[in-house]
Amino acid sequence: MEAIRTRLEQDLKTAVSRLRQIGGTVALEEVPGAIGDNSPFADEMDEIQANESREISFATRELLVGRVNRLVAAIDRLNQGEYGTCVECGEPIAPARLRVMPEVQTCVRCQDRLERLSRRLEPVELSLASDDE
Ligand SMILES: [Zn+2]
Repeated sequence: MEAIRTRLEQDLKTAVSRLRQIGGTVALEEVPGAIGDNSPFADEMDEIQANESREISFATRELLVGRVNRLVAAIDRLNQGEYGTCVECGEPIAPARLRVMPEVQTCVRCQDRLERLSRRLEPVELSLASDDE
């Protein structure tokens, strides 16, 4: 179990530092006039691209925030001796699944069900994320 704790804490550290990097970038982009003034290509297209990259940063940041929350929750559950049990149905989570994603809180079956649920709730975000096909 200590190996899992170490892995969770390392993953948490990585996710938090990436979050800080992204947070800094977004904050810079949001300063009025920061985009364009120093760029020889400052035109409308660049503004659109800047907005798009900000959207991507935002989406990435959301993902990282979710991961940080899950990692913190997993460490909590480890401390309480509940680690490795599905929070939805109470069944043990497959060890192979925990090796790939140590922060998961649900078994494969419950994860599938939850993902289908959230996909139905977020059609707009999903179509935005895949509109450059
Ligand atoms: Zn389950």
